[in-house]
Amino acid sequence: MAEILLAKYGEVALKGLNRHTFENQLLKTVRRRLRDAGEFRVRKAQSTVFVEPIGSADMDLAEERLKKIFGFIAIDRAIICNKTLEDIEAKAEETFGEILEKTRTFKVACKRSDKKFYLNSMELAREVGAYLIEKHPHLKVSMDDPEVTVVCEVRDFDAYVHGGNKEGAGGIPTGSSGRAAIMMSGGIDSPVAGFMMARRGLDLVAVHFMSPPYTSERALDKVVKLCSILSEWMGNFALVCIPFAEVQLEIGRKCPEELFTVLMRRSMVRITNMVCEYEKCGAIVTGESLGQVASQTMPAITCTDDAAEYPVLRPLIGMDKTEIISIARKIDTFDTSILPYEDCCTVFTPKHPKTKPKLSEVRAAEAEAQLDALERAAFDAREVRVLHFFDQD
Ligand code: ATP
Ligand code: MG
Repeated sequence: MAEILLAKYGEVALKGLNRHTFENQLLKTVRRRLRDAGEFRVRKAQSTVFVEPIGSADMDLAEERLKKIFGFIAIDRAIICNKTLEDIEAKAEETFGEILEKTRTFKVACKRSDKKFYLNSMELAREVGAYLIEKHPHLKVSMDDPEVTVVCEVRDFDAYVHGGNKEGAGGIPTGSSGRAAIMMSGGIDSPVAGFMMARRGLDLVAVHFMSPPYTSERALDKVVKLCSILSEWMGNFALVCIPFAEVQLEIGRKCPEELFTVLMRRSMVRITNMVCEYEKCGAIVTGESLGQVASQTMPAITCTDDAAEYPVLRPLIGMDKTEIISIARKIDTFDTSILPYEDCCTVFTPKHPKTKPKLSEVRAAEAEAQLDALERAAFDAREVRVLHFFDQD
């Protein structure tokens, strides 16, 4: 039986966006990401991208790839049928016969977008349902809570049977909301924040602050690994690594210890401003969540924002750690995030960071240190790595 992948995008996401740009972007991404899975015919119609293998293709890989493209709400792997009741029934039985033998309840759901087809959705569902019950007389129909749903779709090109909506990545296509810099530590939160904003269409550049010799090569490898996991969703992107120790040492020498965390965060943000300007980004993304640590109280956030020349997007701000962790597990970054390598923040953490720093005292403390030149030098000494999950991107 010939298989096809039906990648569906939601109408809701199209509101306010240019539909053609959106669709063309999706098609381009699909073609690129499937290049090493075989040869495919890729067409769009009725809010669906039809991905049909030409000759032999790796359908498992293709399905996995499509599930990671932002903009699709569902990916259905279906069997292609002729547009006749007989063929739809035969293919439904061939596909689901074995499963239905072990099932008590089922339903048939039909969608007919080809209005010229001789049966409407209700009639088609009734016919196919009756046919399957004839083959498996023990079956009962359950509309509300069936163990198995057999979906039949009659579209313009062909008809299809499949087992119902398999979740897609959701969101809107990468790049359709512009470009931003994500401040990426090796922790749990920032990769999740990056994932969430990429899903809302942001094309990201990652910025990582490292403090060799206080932080190791392994700590950097961990960040590279996290970014490469994210690139499976976002496509290839750049990781800008900033050597930050000189700035931290200067803050340590000249400023009160209790303000170290907030001052360091402001320096990071100012250097990220430079990355934004250079990389033409319109916003900064962080993994902060309100109240999680000393640098994430309202007064501390006020001080951080004061250093930013771009809007700071904090998608995790209202989330609990358990919620963040469950997303980290889902996107497969959690196990890497919890590897115990040192971070540039933890290396210099003060024992008692001030949780309610005042902007005026923070600015005054900062004036005591010569940070401008060191921050510029750190930016100039950046190392850029491009994460190549997809050879073809
Ligand atoms: P994460 O789990 O992302 O490390 P966190 O809970 O450890 O976050 P903080 O250490 O206060 O919280 O960091 C807050 C945010 O600041 C991070 O989510 C990240 O966006 C940014 N950040 C922290 N350390 C770095 C770093 N070394 N390089 C780049 N960004 C960083
Ligand atoms: Mg951290």
